[in-house]
Amino acid sequence: MTKSQDIIEITNHYGAPNYHPLPIVISEAEGVWVKDPEGNKYMDMLSAYSAVNQGHRHPKIIQALKDQADRVTLTSRAFHSDQLGPWYEKICKLAGKEMVLPMNTGAEAVETAIKAARRWAYDVKGVAKDQAEIIAMKGNFHGRTMAAVSLSSEAEYQRGYGPLLGGFKLVEFGDIEQIKAAITPNTAAVLLEPIQGEAGINIPKDGFLKEVRDLCTENNVLFIADEIQAGLGRSGKMFATDWDNVVPDMYILGKALGGGVFPISCVLADKEILEVFNAGSHGSTFGGNPLACAVSMAALDVLVDEKLSERSLELGEYFQSKLKEIDNPIIKEVRGKGLFIGVELTENARPYCEQLKELGLLCKETHDTVIRFAPPLIISQEDLDWAIEKVKSVFEK
Ligand code: PLP
Repeated sequence: MTKSQDIIEITNHYGAPNYHPLPIVISEAEGVWVKDPEGNKYMDMLSAYSAVNQGHRHPKIIQALKDQADRVTLTSRAFHSDQLGPWYEKICKLAGKEMVLPMNTGAEAVETAIKAARRWAYDVKGVAKDQAEIIAMKGNFHGRTMAAVSLSSEAEYQRGYGPLLGGFKLVEFGDIEQIKAAITPNTAAVLLEPIQGEAGINIPKDGFLKEVRDLCTENNVLFIADEIQAGLGRSGKMFATDWDNVVPDMYILGKALGGGVFPISCVLADKEILEVFNAGSHGSTFGGNPLACAVSMAALDVLVDEKLSERSLELGEYFQSKLKEIDNPIIKEVRGKGLFIGVELTENARPYCEQLKELGLLCKETHDTVIRFAPPLIISQEDLDWAIEKVKSVFEK
């Protein structure tokens, strides 16, 4: 047995079976490339579901991690840390929002946004106690906490977890009329991913996000954009809502906020919304810890200094155009924004991902028939050319 097989066996033996990974063990990584214990090299075209936009182990981010690890790693929020304030300022300025609330994982930040929207509905909008409603989209993915699965449309995400939370209404993603019809005086917020990632890189038609923005403004309803996967350069813009030139009331960020090095997530909004929280009303032991803040500041610097949104836009268009040249009726559609690309097949995508893995290219199917290509945004055109050859060799047999 190889070392990889040993590791897979022990992992499967002791670990709860809530994942079905491709049979590859990653033991080293740098930039867009990863290696297994046998020394085989693979290109990472998943980027840990867009958490590694800055590339694996970006030297500036790793340096920030090391420097901060030598100073202080955790203070809890019982005390101030010298990293939290500067990080607050940096992320607020980047997002153009007045306030931020830090958490650790994406799902926690989604919980935070839901809590904020509900409190805002009661304290600011004047909705009667426990009547607040949040409108979410079918096909959404907002994480795995009880609130996030309660508003999911996937039966498997909910099966066996009841009783679920109430107060959510689901409408068709991209259908402004359905959202309009779902709004009542009790509506606190419309929550959506500007591009649905897990659902298969679903891109709404141009103008939809603007329609949502206008509808929310007209009805005194908060527009919450879950940019955890689509944001921070992935779609070729800093925020995917930028595609329609709109600013939501709340951004939810995670994943690449920590540069794939340390978990950190947050909710950003103006004071009127985030000031609904008072001391003791919400929190997290690790939320906003100095190590995460130091890493995140470096991760944001890399994103801006290396113009990763622009790179994503340019290289994404290039890669998509190459993918569209592949002539095989199995490919139903190639769609994407920047380097956030889905190739929809007429059949199950998993065997193709397995074949690509054999050729040294790592990607993952999402929702059965879609292959998601989302490499680190630091990728070069030469590396993309290498990748396209591999994809061609699988589909042009
Ligand atoms: N929201 C979106 C849009 C996501 O893509 C994800 C993760 O894939 C989450 C929320 C949940 O984030 P986490 O896995 O960090 O809890």
